[in-house]
Amino acid sequence: MRLDKYACEAVDLTRSEAKKAISRGSFTVNGEVIKSPAFKVPQDACVEYLEQEVELVGTRYIMMHKPVDTLCTTSDTELYESVISLMDIEKPERLHVAGRLDVDTTGLLLITDDGKWSHRVTSPNYHCKKVYIAQLADAVEPAEQAIMIEQVAQGIMLKNEDKPTLPAHLSFSTDNCAQLTISEGRYHQVKRMFAALGNKVVSLHRQKIGHLEIDSDLEPCEWRYLTAEEVALF
Ligand code: URA
Repeated sequence: MRLDKYACEAVDLTRSEAKKAISRGSFTVNGEVIKSPAFKVPQDACVEYLEQEVELVGTRYIMMHKPVDTLCTTSDTELYESVISLMDIEKPERLHVAGRLDVDTTGLLLITDDGKWSHRVTSPNYHCKKVYIAQLADAVEPAEQAIMIEQVAQGIMLKNEDKPTLPAHLSFSTDNCAQLTISEGRYHQVKRMFAALGNKVVSLHRQKIGHLEIDSDLEPCEWRYLTAEEVALF
């Protein structure tokens, strides 16, 4: 890789800032000052910027078990911490969440610095299915469950919207615990769907995105890198 490109990626400089810094002699490669932006950095070279070693950070694909009371933004607020600041990781400012969850929702979160990949996760054009487990305030009798399942399969009208939701799949594991699979990502969609059905979500957990399920070994707050096979699912 050319030194100016390496400098942009490793130090977060623009291409023109990188070229200027290189011409000023701010970079060394294997101990030698290099003033040519086009210099080809050998594999495994030691690159220093202002006498500090700098390294490339590759593209990252991460799964986190989001805990409650955290935000899917890149910075904290007075009230809540961002999920990214929970991570002890290099260059956190480059990361973003692919498919946000509400502050009180838990479960599977995908975090990356690859914008094209996150577009495939979140864009409505890819119809990526998301599976949520919702605890409901009011118990639902079996006969009522059957009606709700049918309504959700047909698509329901949400408050302040003019198009029904796309057909979705609903099932019940108990009379107040439902699993809902949707392929859209409208604002507060799951909570609003249950509100439209006359119930209220008291807790919400995302179990699955596309073919990727949350790793059951991850406790809330814990995260791990995706395997190459998992990355290739999107
Ligand atoms: N739907 C919601 O209502 N909240 C979420 O966090 C995700 C989907």
